[in-house]
Amino acid sequence: MQDLHNKIDLEFDQQHVWHPYTSTLNPLPCYPVESAQGVYLKLEDGRELIDGMSSWWSTIHGYNHPALNEAATKQLEKMSHVMFGGITHQPAVELCRKLVDMTPEPLQHVFLADSGSVAVEVSLKMALQYWHARGERKPKFLTVKHGYHGDTFAAMSVTDPENSMHSLYKGFLPEHIFAQSPECGFYNEWQEEDIEDFKDKLAEHQSEVAAVIIEPIVQGAGGMRIYHPTFLKRVRELCDEYGILLIADEIATGFGRTGKLFACEHAGVSPDIMCVGKALTGGYMTLSATLTTKHVADTVCGGEAGCFMHGPTFMGNPLACAVANASLTVLQQGDWQQQVSNIEAQLAETLPEIGKLEKVKDVRWLGAIGVVELFEPVNMAEIQKAFVDSGVWIRPFGTLVYIMPPFIIKPQELSKLTSAILRTLQ
Ligand SMILES: *Cc1c(COP(=O)(O)O)cnc(C)c1O
Repeated sequence: MQDLHNKIDLEFDQQHVWHPYTSTLNPLPCYPVESAQGVYLKLEDGRELIDGMSSWWSTIHGYNHPALNEAATKQLEKMSHVMFGGITHQPAVELCRKLVDMTPEPLQHVFLADSGSVAVEVSLKMALQYWHARGERKPKFLTVKHGYHGDTFAAMSVTDPENSMHSLYKGFLPEHIFAQSPECGFYNEWQEEDIEDFKDKLAEHQSEVAAVIIEPIVQGAGGMRIYHPTFLKRVRELCDEYGILLIADEIATGFGRTGKLFACEHAGVSPDIMCVGKALTGGYMTLSATLTTKHVADTVCGGEAGCFMHGPTFMGNPLACAVANASLTVLQQGDWQQQVSNIEAQLAETLPEIGKLEKVKDVRWLGAIGVVELFEPVNMAEIQKAFVDSGVWIRPFGTLVYIMPPFIIKPQELSKLTSAILRTLQ
């Protein structure tokens, strides 16, 4: 028996524990984290790393936050879980009220789910049931290349075909329609031809397209691309023109990350269905939500099934909802707008310097997101070690070295992140 004071058994980890997207044949070593506080991850050997990743977009207020800890502890003493079928509870009702209040006005109905991928599955099912209820056969989705919507099957089917290796799942994965991804950057002058391919694809397939699904303004794991708000505005206009639903996947961008509470606000548009996740609980536990309009919800429920056909076991988990409520309260009462705009200003000052390096293809930033794109993919084991040796936690993928730190990061800590990138790439 291992006792709690023993060190993490890294050999067992390598031999038996699967980490995200890793091989059992060639398992790279993992860094043992013992605890975390604020923007710091504390390794077992005592070293402290500044977290540049917010544990994949989620820990916006930093680790071990007193208000979130208190919410979790208090809820734990009442009940950590109860089924949601036929039962309701304060943490869920409060959370749904907050989400309805925070998101664009037409979004009035909230479906709570377990993870980002499930929120995406739910959004796609809502769109399919919507058209089924209206007696129309619309089995396809339209999206853009370089998107990322999750790892479950339906989510994968609308994720970039190359990133998610559609060919591996051929025959099993539904085939949807991919338009060219937006090329016009956020700060560039808008070029109307950027929307042409999307427009053509929508016109061509409109009779079979149930919905368009897109990550607003920032395409995350599919390439960390930051695009022009007019692209999203045109997408909304075209969806309206053809009467097609628009699903905004705000799972990465939601809750202030891009400088707006939701990235859709950059384009002044409101989707018919919106997915949120990641930062929803401030990175404490897994929870997501899919919101929709009264029109979509009522149409879905007026159909043959008489209800929306989904209901996970841990739906509306009270513990997760209680922490999400605390996280959203911290967000609403805090100074996230100033924090994120300070981070953005600092990135705008420091990233161009990194952009001058020969191996760097492009640098870009928006809100609390900074991206360095290289010509060649990084050597993961090497660069990860170099970053850890510099006292930072940055986890690149492929040609992308990027940071999205907790909003509470201080200027000198952010400098450590960007100078570690500069030094490591040099
Ligand atoms: C992370 C992510 C998802 C999937 O969320 P999981 O919680 O990992 O299932 C979906 N869409 C976007 C845009 C994401 O960034």
